[in-house]
Amino acid sequence: MRYISTRGDAPALEFEDVLLEGLARDGGLYVPQTWPTLSPDTFENIRGKHYASVACDVMWPFVDGAIGRDDFERIVCGAYSKFRHQSVAPLVQIGPNLWVMELFHGPTLAFKDVAMQVLGGLFDHVLAKRDAHLTIVGATSGDTGSAAIEAVRGSDRADIFIMHPKGRTSDVQRKQMTTVDAPNVHNLAVEGTFDDCQALLKAMFNDAAFRDRTHLSGVNSINWARVLPQAVYYVAAAASLGALNGGAAPRFCVPTGNFGDIYAGYIAQKLGLAVERLVVASNQNDILTRVFRTGDHTLGDVYATMSPSMDIQVSSNFERLLFDVLDRDPRKVQDLMGKLKSDRTFKLDADTVAKLAETFSAHRVDESETLDTIRKVYKQTGYLIDPHTAVGVAAAWHEMNATDAAAPMVVLSTAHPAKFPDAVEKATGVRPPLPDFLADLYEREERFDVVENDLTSVQRTIEYAIQANNPR
Ligand SMILES: *Cc1c(COP(=O)(O)O)cnc(C)c1O
Repeated sequence: MRYISTRGDAPALEFEDVLLEGLARDGGLYVPQTWPTLSPDTFENIRGKHYASVACDVMWPFVDGAIGRDDFERIVCGAYSKFRHQSVAPLVQIGPNLWVMELFHGPTLAFKDVAMQVLGGLFDHVLAKRDAHLTIVGATSGDTGSAAIEAVRGSDRADIFIMHPKGRTSDVQRKQMTTVDAPNVHNLAVEGTFDDCQALLKAMFNDAAFRDRTHLSGVNSINWARVLPQAVYYVAAAASLGALNGGAAPRFCVPTGNFGDIYAGYIAQKLGLAVERLVVASNQNDILTRVFRTGDHTLGDVYATMSPSMDIQVSSNFERLLFDVLDRDPRKVQDLMGKLKSDRTFKLDADTVAKLAETFSAHRVDESETLDTIRKVYKQTGYLIDPHTAVGVAAAWHEMNATDAAAPMVVLSTAHPAKFPDAVEKATGVRPPLPDFLADLYEREERFDVVENDLTSVQRTIEYAIQANNPR
């Protein structure tokens, strides 16, 4: 399997190199050169299998030829052995025809662990094989950072630098990153927003000299190997609901920020999974709702909401979907991305919007509706959901009211309620406690560097720390 860039001016690469490169050298994102499909037999035999085993089956066509099957199974089993729930991504029914898929049973209480734990194992495997060292950089709106740190802490083959927008993550999110005491872990609090952090990240990748000097790699969902493992739980959920053995194809509603998680649902569909609909749930930062409904992709200001992991205007992975709906023509992608950069806007034509609408719907959920939803779900079921999940549930209700489809609806629950206790308590009066293994989080000592929102300052901080940690 070879991977090509959405912008057409970077070399096609094999899986291992896509893993290590992250962003393509032309500023684009890597996607498979052609979409593989799983056989009907493979889908039918998934029912009843352990999650790790489903994961190997679903991801195999994308890594076949790069990594041996035994090594791959060992990496995947190792990743999911760290989850606190046997089934990794259990479904909980919260209403008629409505399920929540709990993706927060990993070490940092958000869905990002599901992919990141696999990514950490893949990095270790490939770096050991090549006897190489990496500098991993990431930008986080809160949850990516801790999940990435947790996946590579203590590795002597990688230094990791995580930029977070200073003061814009929840306390739990920040402490999960800054209290990790490992010499290869470095936290940078950037004086700016998440989009600023993401822009700095892209600028570092586009600085070829810096990139080569530091052996730079990424863990954001711009990395193909980050989104791929997320396709697995769409298949696992469909299996649990009987959809792989004659039952109705499910709909999935996904609280969306960088468009990685929902794009993984699209990957599952490309693999041949019957998906009735993918529903994009946005908070007040609603650029995706606008683009799916009208084609208008105009950047606005970033609002700070109670679902901070979705406080994003530029949803990087949307470019991967655009590439497909623009007939995989890299010139068309370049044209739109150029307009976005120069004019802060582009517009999709009516045909493209119609094409997107065959698979996707989109709903925006504001702050008061988010709180109401947490309250309502608690009243109706006694079940606590975090604000990101609440945006998803509210959007799912909108979708279910707008259509009479009988297909089951699965909302992806992206974070544990204890990760956002203030919003949950405000809505319900109940403060969800942290699980035992994190109970002393607030007492642990924090370590981070504050850096200006400035490329040179960030690069200098990184190079200085690498030298300090890896004296030659
Ligand atoms: C990252 C994150 C999201 C958004 O996921 P994307 O892949 O960026 O769309 C939603 N909820 C939570 C809790 C997250 O951590």
